Amino acid sequence: MHKILVTGGCGYIGSHTIVDLIDHGFEVISADNLSNSSEAVLDGIEAITGRRVHNYAIDLCDLAATEAMFKAHDDLAGVIHFAALKHVGESVEQPLRYFRNNLNSLINVLDCMVRYDVPNFIFSSSCSVYGNASELPVTEKTPLEEAESPYARTKQMGEQMVHDFSHRHPGQNNILLRYFNPAGAHESAKIGESPTTPASNLVPVITEAAIGKRKALMVFGDDYNTRDGSCIRDYIHVMDLANAHTKALQHLIAGKQEAPVSVFNLGIGEGVTVLEAVNAFMKVTGEKLPYHIGPRRPGDVVAIYANYKKAADQLGWAPKRDVNDIMRTAWNWEKVRSQAKEEV
Ligand code: NAD
Repeated sequence: MHKILVTGGCGYIGSHTIVDLIDHGFEVISADNLSNSSEAVLDGIEAITGRRVHNYAIDLCDLAATEAMFKAHDDLAGVIHFAALKHVGESVEQPLRYFRNNLNSLINVLDCMVRYDVPNFIFSSSCSVYGNASELPVTEKTPLEEAESPYARTKQMGEQMVHDFSHRHPGQNNILLRYFNPAGAHESAKIGESPTTPASNLVPVITEAAIGKRKALMVFGDDYNTRDGSCIRDYIHVMDLANAHTKALQHLIAGKQEAPVSVFNLGIGEGVTVLEAVNAFMKVTGEKLPYHIGPRRPGDVVAIYANYKKAADQLGWAPKRDVNDIMRTAWNWEKVRSQAKEEV
């Protein structure tokens, strides 16, 4: 059984990926400092998989603590590095905090992988590396434009660091996964997106507004040059995204990767406007959603959606769910989450 370290394993995408990894026969440990999550998610993972995952509640910017964990697990087959701060708006306000956290943690993880001979690495990148892309849909060959936020720049720099690192460590296999807009929750509604800091992604904001945790959803701008004036995104179900990590890992472990670093887009290839997403939510759930139109938000790109052919061809991956599945599972999760909070 291959043992994998998932950093950020208590977070949104990390926790769903752990479920998919366990379903595919991997053993998993997590490292998460709980800056945007809680270990309660480990109960949800256990309820789904029957397995208790151990989390090291360490800050990966702390090299000594990170190294101690690698030393205790010197048989790792790979690392999936999710741990990062991820709020675009917050990164505009606190750029140094984003650079410090996202880059130092990556440096320490790569450093320990070399010291403890861990051969396979997967990095959580983002479609934000494309900036305001010059062509749509974007392929992995679409040129990277100026980053629109310090967050996006940490992803561009992170990718570049992995490339530079790979020149010096040719035995190391690396995959950079550029996620488009992950959303939705596990079908069981036992895990989902449950940040400890206020959500800023569209789907949790929609479900929070619908259930009454927020007064209303604010749509940031309806005067963009798009079909209804709101921004266009490519929403990918988190379980489809999770499965792409399993496939990428299997690809690396099977020695199928030819280049030291490969890049894959992970989206479903369909652009959905913010207002279309709002309507999909109301149609699928039958719920009313209070929303109003606000000003544009700094750091937002206008439109972006993926061409995922490379992941399909090389990893044998394809998304199985659409925006309706996203809204249905996200809403089921919101109802469970809100009820649990009321009972406390
Ligand atoms: P998340 O905030 O739910 O999970 C990240 C986890 O990392 C959190 O649990 C947090 O506590 C932990 N963490 C952060 N800094 C840490 C540190 N220094 N040491 C240890 N743990 C630390 O976010 P997510 O949505 O699951 O995102 C996972 C990754 O995917 C991130 O790298 C993010 O930038 C990237 N990504 C996310 C999206 C998205 O929309 N959710 C889109 C593109 C890329």
